[in-house]
Amino acid sequence: MKYKQIIGLEFHIQLNTRSKMFCDCNNLNEDELPNTAVCPICLGHPGTLPVVNKKAIESGIRLALALNCKINKSTKFDRKNYFYPDLPKGYQISQYDQPLAENGELIINHAAPDGLAGRLDKEEELKRIRILRVHMEEDTAKMIHSKQESKSLIDFNRSGSPLLEIVTYPDMRSSREAKTFAQELQLIVRELGISDADMEKGHLRCDANISLLPENDQELNPKTEIKNINSFKALERALDFEIRRQMLLWEKGNPPEKQTTRGWNDKEQETVEQRGKEVEKDYRYFPEPDIPPLKFSDDYINEIKSLLPEMPQSKRKRLMEEYGFSPEASKILTADQYIDDFTERALSELAEWITTLPEMEGQGTRVQIWKDNKKKLVKLLSDWLINKLLPTLEKQEITLKESKIDSENFAELISIIYQNKVNSAGASKILEEMVKTGIDPSQAMVELNVEQVDDEETIESIIDSVIKQFPDQVDEYKSGKEPVINFLLGQVMKQSQGKANPEKSEKILKEKLK
Ligand SMILES: [Zn+2]
Repeated sequence: MKYKQIIGLEFHIQLNTRSKMFCDCNNLNEDELPNTAVCPICLGHPGTLPVVNKKAIESGIRLALALNCKINKSTKFDRKNYFYPDLPKGYQISQYDQPLAENGELIINHAAPDGLAGRLDKEEELKRIRILRVHMEEDTAKMIHSKQESKSLIDFNRSGSPLLEIVTYPDMRSSREAKTFAQELQLIVRELGISDADMEKGHLRCDANISLLPENDQELNPKTEIKNINSFKALERALDFEIRRQMLLWEKGNPPEKQTTRGWNDKEQETVEQRGKEVEKDYRYFPEPDIPPLKFSDDYINEIKSLLPEMPQSKRKRLMEEYGFSPEASKILTADQYIDDFTERALSELAEWITTLPEMEGQGTRVQIWKDNKKKLVKLLSDWLINKLLPTLEKQEITLKESKIDSENFAELISIIYQNKVNSAGASKILEEMVKTGIDPSQAMVELNVEQVDDEETIESIIDSVIKQFPDQVDEYKSGKEPVINFLLGQVMKQSQGKANPEKSEKILKEKLK
């Protein structure tokens, strides 16, 4: 029998506001000693009063707007009651029936190749994932379980940190769709700058709900909730494991009958049923009496909306449509704001350079010149950014932001390469120097002595001397061993200290050996 996979996701995003959700303790305390960023409010002392963090609310509204949600004009906080050692008050301040926002959507490309968010211009590949709600709450403390000493420690630094919860409708139909959605959400959160959204550090936490539905059935079956997912890979694997497990149960005529919670065990690569007690959901929600409901005016919401940055999807689309970048390149070049800014600034520098070049005079309007050269220039820039600059940074173990290279100089390097003033090997040397010292590429070309030898007479004289030096190889080539040309070319490059124009050298060499 065939089964439909019904998948919904739930996310918790730890916001990076300076202070916590209801007190002014330092919220950016990951590097602090345990239990040092605490006060009576986040320790849950009786008689203390919570005060709402305006910035956290604003972050929540920004994400909700980015997810096309409807912001509720009036929202309130509720107490979610349960007992656990990481929750000193015995309740968590959360939101129940009047969440911050509801009814949003995010469009993903369900056919995207692995790790790619995909194009947005192929209608048949797009999938709309509805967002049920976005609400705010406070985080709990962190429990640290020590097996050796058979005891648990509690760090209250995380207690009261602002969290955004995002719940989707069960609109996803495969583990890949779920992963693509989660990755897109991470990109949006990072673009908004409201959280680092690092899954391994727990800034972005994800629970997945899954049930199978025999193809002709309509009624939804009891779902399984998967917890402890700490990476995108784990999300995909946990869902795949659960799909197989549930399919076997269906085949045996023994499908899941009640809702359960299972934890993902990354080491064993399997989900494990968690105790029934943790599944129990009688939280006795009631309105938080210490915080009055919040009211938002249209002006307030519209102002936040008007200040939203361009979303990653739209950026990728623009890079593809306006400049002709590949989907893969667009994904890499918009992965973080710094790379994106760098790319766009370098592009505009390149356009400025090519259209004002003295040689271009009489070649048409500036728009026309840019149009004629754009495709080649963008390809060159994309290749040098992705295949040379990023690996060079990785080799030197620094980020683009930390490196000394700037977009203006990078654009100049691309223009030097475009004009054949330097060959690929020489340009790589220049690039390494630029990353290290921030040197201007024209200056580096002179200092490193890598300026391309383009002059045909000079190349010819080098080739003549190579032909004289290696008569045996020349004979071999002439008798039909064509690959020997590579050896001879190598000698030409060596004698020119790597500076000869490779294309010209090959052309002249072939002509001389005819
Ligand atoms: Zn506090």
